[in-house]
Amino acid sequence: MTNDVVLHCGTCGRDHRLEELAWRCGDCRGVLDLAGFTPVLPSLPELAGARPTLWRYASALPIAEPIDIGLGEGMTPLIHAPGRTDIMLKLDYLMPTGSFKDRGAVLLAALARRLAVPRMLADSSGNAGTAIAAYAARAGIACEVYVPASTSAGKLAQLRAYGATVHAIPGTREDTAAAAARAADESGNFYASHVYHPFFLHGTKTYAFELWEQLGGRLPGTLVLPVGNGTLVLGAYLGCRELLARRLIDRIPRIVAAQAESCAPLAAAIRTGSTVPVDVAARPTAAEGIAIARPARGRQILAAVRSTGGTIVTVADTEIRTAHAELARAGLYVEPTAAVCWAAVRAGRIGGSGRSSSSPAVVAPLCGSGLKAEPPAEALDISPRA
Ligand SMILES: *Cc1c(COP(=O)(O)O)cnc(C)c1O
Ligand SMILES: [Zn+2]
Repeated sequence: MTNDVVLHCGTCGRDHRLEELAWRCGDCRGVLDLAGFTPVLPSLPELAGARPTLWRYASALPIAEPIDIGLGEGMTPLIHAPGRTDIMLKLDYLMPTGSFKDRGAVLLAALARRLAVPRMLADSSGNAGTAIAAYAARAGIACEVYVPASTSAGKLAQLRAYGATVHAIPGTREDTAAAAARAADESGNFYASHVYHPFFLHGTKTYAFELWEQLGGRLPGTLVLPVGNGTLVLGAYLGCRELLARRLIDRIPRIVAAQAESCAPLAAAIRTGSTVPVDVAARPTAAEGIAIARPARGRQILAAVRSTGGTIVTVADTEIRTAHAELARAGLYVEPTAAVCWAAVRAGRIGGSGRSSSSPAVVAPLCGSGLKAEPPAEALDISPRA
């Protein structure tokens, strides 16, 4: 299956073999996507009886199921939002490592195993790193994770427990990414980047497949998604496109992505009509997991969201705090970043409900577990002090 798959640069057209371990284009430094592979989506009847993991869609994934690497990832619950019958929440914080990042991480670990690399590198504000570290451990591959020095103690403990070597980098999230990129260029290292490696997006696309299946072969009118680097937005969009190509849906839902007001380069681009992220000065936010000032796939994110008739909205930290508390009072203990979508929904910022009569009208994910985050009060104190 993977034999014909290549990493393709959409900017200059150059192809790279998977074995080259390229993480961006060797010529123009553009971001790479997958080419040379045709996903085959099962029909609903064909899926009946398949095991409840994302590998039920193996025929639509670019690599075969790695027998001994999986942790049961995927097929997360879909429930009604507190007090709402028109809105549903998909509980990706119940994944094996506590976030949706498992969807992509398991594919990268499977690829690492297949390419027999000695070491995987990741950089992350926390959840992507913990996911890569867990699946690397499961695959018996050494793992080094670059994180900002400000990463929560819970996530650091989780990384170390999986046996990863942790590099805590002072400065911004961008400084962390730069440190990882330097290490990535050393030979033999596989930069298992959730941002750059397109296998990750082919994992997160299963979010859309599962939703389609759980809703009986339909998608809602609107998908609300968090956006920092856009791995869930781009994955969900890719999944929708593949469903549409197979005629399993008749149109792609509106994608409404949510950013924290304190760091919203993509929302600013939508507002100003820009095709690339706007330069912003990032201020601290409780939603640390999406505080990405310069998303590498920003151009792709903006094009994807616009093509669905959607938009990118912002929420203030006070709104995130309220949403976070409300979710917890409804039994849903997530990290503050994971409350951003619910904050946007309850603030009435989603709009466009007239476009679809589908039910539910809106689905949003709860992306990350509260168990590894700093206690909310402390995390949320950051922004008043700033
Ligand atoms: C990674 C993550 C996000 C955002 O994902 P991006 O790929 O940066 O857009 C949102 N919420 C949680 C909990 C995450 O771990
Ligand atoms: Zn290129």
